[in-house]
Amino acid sequence: MEASIRLGKIWDIPIGLNISWFLVFGLVTWSLATGYFPNEYPQLSAGVNWLLGLVTSILFFGSVLLHELGHAYMALREKIAVRAINLFIFGGVAQIEGEPQTPGAEFRISIAGPIVSLALAGFFGVVWLIDQNIPWLAAPSIWLARINLILAIFNMIPGFPLDGGRVLRAGVWKLTGSFRKANRVATLSGQIVAFLFMGLGILVILGGNLFNGLWLIFIGWFLQNAAASSYAQSTMQQALQSLRVDQVMARQWPKLSSRTPLSLLMEEQILRGGPRYAFLVHEGYGYDEGEQRAAGMVSLTDIVRIPQQRWPYTPAEQIMVPWDRLVAVTTQMDLLEALRIMGEANVAQVPVLNEIGDLVGVLSREQVFQIIRLRSRLQI
Ligand SMILES: [Zn+2]
Repeated sequence: MEASIRLGKIWDIPIGLNISWFLVFGLVTWSLATGYFPNEYPQLSAGVNWLLGLVTSILFFGSVLLHELGHAYMALREKIAVRAINLFIFGGVAQIEGEPQTPGAEFRISIAGPIVSLALAGFFGVVWLIDQNIPWLAAPSIWLARINLILAIFNMIPGFPLDGGRVLRAGVWKLTGSFRKANRVATLSGQIVAFLFMGLGILVILGGNLFNGLWLIFIGWFLQNAAASSYAQSTMQQALQSLRVDQVMARQWPKLSSRTPLSLLMEEQILRGGPRYAFLVHEGYGYDEGEQRAAGMVSLTDIVRIPQQRWPYTPAEQIMVPWDRLVAVTTQMDLLEALRIMGEANVAQVPVLNEIGDLVGVLSREQVFQIIRLRSRLQI
C-alpha cells in the first residue's frame, strides 16, 4: 500500500493515490460502459457509453475523496492532525494521528464520512429527478446516487475498522467508560464481519458466481487484516498511555561545561559517543555536581549551522538555547503527552524536571521509539 501518486494537498493534507486504484477505475469504467449503461439506456451509442463511464468513474473517485475529507474535517475540528488521505483499491483511508481522546470525538470523526456519502446520494438523487428524461445525464446520476448510498451503508457495518465499527467502539466506550473494553468489542465485531464476508463469498462461488465470490472473500480478508493491525496499534498506544516520563527517561547524561568549544563537543560526544542529538550544558567547571547548574541545551542542528573553522573558538554557551527558553517535561507526565509537547516544539530531546523543578533526567524520542519497538515485539 506504499506506492502512491501525490495528487496535491487539501487543507494542508497530502492526498495520495495508490496505483491499485487504477484497477478500480478501469473496472468501474469498463463495467459501466459495457454493462450497466447499455442495459439500462440502450438508446446511447457505444462511444457515449465509454465517455460516460469515464466521467462517472471520476465522479465516483471524487465521492470517495469527499467521504474521507468528511473524516479529516471532523478530525481537524477535534484538533487531531491528519497525516494523509490515501485512495486505494477498497476506497480511501484518512490517516489520523493517534486515537481520539473521547468517545464523543471518535463518534463525530467516524460518522462524518458516511454522512457525506449519504448527502452525496441525496444530491445525485435530486439531480436524477431533474434530469431523468435526458438519458446521458440520468444514467450517471442514478448510478452515483446508488453507489454513494451503498458506500454509506457499507461503511456503517459495525465491524472495526469500518466507520460503523468505530461508531460501535465510541458507543461501548461511552457506556463502559473503558477504551480497552470498547476496542476489544469493536475488533471482535470486525473479525466476525470479516468472516461473514468470506463465508458469503464461498456461498456465492458455490452458487456459480466466481468473480463476485472472490471479491467478497478478498474484502473479508482485507477487513480481517485491518482489524488485527489496528487493534495492535491501539493497544500499543494504550501501552504508551499508561507509561510515565520517569519510567523511560535517562537518569544520566554527559555533563558539559558551557565553555566547552564546539570542536571538542563534536569530537568527544558525537564522534566517540555515538549519535546524540542534543546536549545539556552546565555552567561552571567544578567536578562537584552540586556546584553545576543546567544552563541550556545545544543540538546538533545548532552546531552545524556554525562554519566548521569557527568550532574551536565557539563555546557551547554561545549557541545553546538558554535554560529559561527550553521546553521541558515533568516526571509524572504521560509519555504520550510528553511526545506531543516535543512534537509541537519540534525537538528530539527535552530535560525532565521533578515536582520542585529540579533537573532529574533527559527524555529523547530515540528512547521512546526503543520502548515502542520493544513492546510491540513482546506483544504487550
Ligand atoms: Zn469512512
